[in-house]
Amino acid sequence: MISKDLLDILVCPFCKSEIRPDDKGTMLKCLKAECAFEYPVQNDIPIMLINKARRPCLKCGKQRDWNEDAGIVSCPECHSEMKYGFTLNGKI
Ligand SMILES: [Zn+2]
Ligand SMILES: [Zn+2]
Repeated sequence: MISKDLLDILVCPFCKSEIRPDDKGTMLKCLKAECAFEYPVQNDIPIMLINKARRPCLKCGKQRDWNEDAGIVSCPECHSEMKYGFTLNGKI
């Protein structure tokens, strides 16, 4: 299990929101609905890397592309975009 102390300080590296483990503790999910990235947990160590996360598109469910240089995730299917560090008012 991941310690609660660690969970309390971890945030989603993309949107800076809270994250919570799933029931099995095999991944950490971002609580911000517009983001909803899922970070893998390997040997109780959370892999908090955007490029290792599942990044399902909210509209079509496709894995979104992460452009590290631009700080943008975009869907190859429906072209919705989110920018690094976005807030609730951010473009989706
Ligand atoms: Zn997030
Ligand atoms: Zn999409």
